[in-house]
Amino acid sequence: MTAFDELLVVQEHDTAVEQLGHGRATLPERARLDAVGERLMALEATAAEIGGQRDDVARRQQKLEDELASLEDKLVMLEKRMYSGAVTAPRELQAMQADAEALKRRQSSLEDQVLESMGEREPLDARLSDLDADRRALDAESGELRAAIAEAESAIDAELASEEAARADAVASIPPDLLTLYEQLRARLGGIGAARLVRGSCSGCHLALPATEVDRIKREPPDAVIRCDQCGRILVR
Ligand SMILES: [Zn+2]
Repeated sequence: MTAFDELLVVQEHDTAVEQLGHGRATLPERARLDAVGERLMALEATAAEIGGQRDDVARRQQKLEDELASLEDKLVMLEKRMYSGAVTAPRELQAMQADAEALKRRQSSLEDQVLESMGEREPLDARLSDLDADRRALDAESGELRAAIAEAESAIDAELASEEAARADAVASIPPDLLTLYEQLRARLGGIGAARLVRGSCSGCHLALPATEVDRIKREPPDAVIRCDQCGRILVR
């Protein structure tokens, strides 16, 4: 195996490393995880809004219930006095009767309002519990995706390590000047610094070399560094 053939082996490993790196950076699970994250954020915003509405209704309901409780206390006390026999003046009793009726009207109106706020709160609670279920599902999905990403990454990392090791082996027998030229070309030409000459064509740029150029290359000594006259890559015969 010539140094040039060895260079093509290095090129293969470099290409593999690049592809593995690209695959690692663009795992489909990563895009899905981002999408799940966005859905979670939107869900949290909705949950905060609905939760705020629910809390408003709950506060209003609590106020009504407190007012109702104190009104009921008042009514109990009033009725106790009315039926205690301590008050005998008919006019006073009549006034107390009127007070009791007013309290009862207010009580009934408060009870209606409590029912109303309970009715308002119910769909909000239902919505919040749906959102909670959605959140749990998204959390589970995101956990699965993270695990899948970690697994894919460690598989890719193992492949990367073996490619790097194989590259280090192949590189050992390549003259430093040739390797430097290869690295420079690779950096400049989309990751491909060396290409095989196949039936008069450069497999780096896929252009056919002129017949005269092919003839000239054939006459060059085996250790001469041949470059494609189209793309400049190292041509391996
Ligand atoms: Zn070329």
